[in-house]
Amino acid sequence: MDVLVIGGGNAALCAALTARRAGADVLLVEKAPEPFRGGNSRHTRDIRFLHERGDRYVTGPYPEDEFWDDLRRVTCGQTNEHLAKLVIRESADIKDWAMEHGVRWQPPLRGTLHLARTNLFMLGGGKALVNAYYATALRMGVRVLYETEAQELILSDGRFEAAILRSATGQLCEVEAKAVVVAAGGFEANLAWLKRYWGEAADNFVVRGAPYNDGRVLAALLQQGAKPVGDPQQFHAVAVDARAPKFDGGIVTRLDSIPFGIVVNRQAERFYDEGEDLWPRRYAIWGGLIARQPDQIAYSIVDAKVMHQFLPSIYPPIEAPSIPALAERLGLDPPSLVRTVERFNRAVRVGTYDPSTLDDCHTEGLEPPKSHWALPLDTPPFYAYPLRPGITFTYMGVTVDDHARVVLQDGRPAQNIFAAGEIMAGNILGRGYLAGFGLTIGTVFGRIAGREAARAAGH
Ligand SMILES: Cc1cc2nc3c(=O)[nH]c(=O)nc-3n(C[C@H](O)[C@H](O)[C@H](O)COP(=O)(O)OP(=O)(O)OC[C@H]3O[C@@H](n4cnc5c(N)ncnc54)[C@H](O)[C@@H]3O)c2cc1C
Repeated sequence: MDVLVIGGGNAALCAALTARRAGADVLLVEKAPEPFRGGNSRHTRDIRFLHERGDRYVTGPYPEDEFWDDLRRVTCGQTNEHLAKLVIRESADIKDWAMEHGVRWQPPLRGTLHLARTNLFMLGGGKALVNAYYATALRMGVRVLYETEAQELILSDGRFEAAILRSATGQLCEVEAKAVVVAAGGFEANLAWLKRYWGEAADNFVVRGAPYNDGRVLAALLQQGAKPVGDPQQFHAVAVDARAPKFDGGIVTRLDSIPFGIVVNRQAERFYDEGEDLWPRRYAIWGGLIARQPDQIAYSIVDAKVMHQFLPSIYPPIEAPSIPALAERLGLDPPSLVRTVERFNRAVRVGTYDPSTLDDCHTEGLEPPKSHWALPLDTPPFYAYPLRPGITFTYMGVTVDDHARVVLQDGRPAQNIFAAGEIMAGNILGRGYLAGFGLTIGTVFGRIAGREAARAAGH
């Protein structure tokens, strides 16, 4: 066989489609059963891309300089500039390329993350994108095996020889290929691995995406000499409703109520500025903040006057006519919560309230402060959402070069091992996140990996 693609999400599919188009014989192995195929890509909604002008799908231009500035700001410079600019430039044709392979876009959505100008929204979301790519891949002759896990990689002097695959029935078989593309995601679903950095706290994390991304292929590559990239403790994590399922809850469990009220921990104490900056710039720090609180639990509390200003979670809020009653319903100490709310209300200086800008409603003399959108909690009924850290993805992966080749510890690029998607995103996103950029990296590097793998296989 020419090309083995390990993984079944966006990056793997972009690689498989491209390698097949180049004439290679391609086998894609997806660990998930068919109805759950598509990894975290299945949960996505939008993709960021370079464009010179607005059209029916985006409201305005997003030029290269602005894209690069945005990336530099969120990563605080922890990015490989050469690879980052490659992704930015090669994202320009994503709209047309995806459409050629069956994806449909929809007119821009309004929402709390303000992405209508910079990002394309998939009609039917990530599930439809993944389904379209599978349908096209199968039509083009890509072979797909579901419930098939790559368990081990057999390498010889930095060259891929074969993979040990485990089928749904538990059967092991060795499959040789001239080149391999690893696109098996991060290790965010592997709580034992996360425990190495977070200790027992990891037991209380919620994994927003697929339970299959356990990092087995990543570990196999690192053990056999691939050069790591990215901080293993870093992850992208948001606040999710604590009632969310442990795995695969997707986007509907995320909570955007935080800037509209206060957030307290198990001791009924505030612990961070809920109004520090506009929500799209802050939503992704709250998972980490909650992960550092006792028992990794927190509560977002709002009152009736702001209740309809944010996207609700899929779960109903916990409601009570007074703050002590709300504390009881949450299992918090009522006098402590009353004290926290009274102290907060006394510190609030109301100006001109405007959730769409950094307004002048703030607290004075309070630690931690609430810098914007501070309104007293005084209008019953009161509402609360319990919060947990919701892990989106991990940052540590394998180092790659601009041919998507996995780089070895000695600095040599492996000649027939290519990586795409979350497993190598840490080259470009050393920290922070730009909404919709995960799919961009996977699409651009998936296509490069597919092209180069086909070439390595003689096409
Ligand atoms: C809830 C949620 C919402 C998100 N929203 C967005 C968004 O709107 N836009 C955006 O750009 N990004 C978003 N992201 C991030 C985005 O999902 C990832 O950046 C992107 O999907 C990564 O693609 P991938 O192909 O690398 O990984 P995945 O899509 O996760 O695919 C990994 C695949 O590998 C398979 N696999 C794992 N181990 C093995 C193995 N040993 N053998 C065989 N197969 C294996 C898995 O089953 C899976 O199919 C979101 C993430 C989550 C969790």
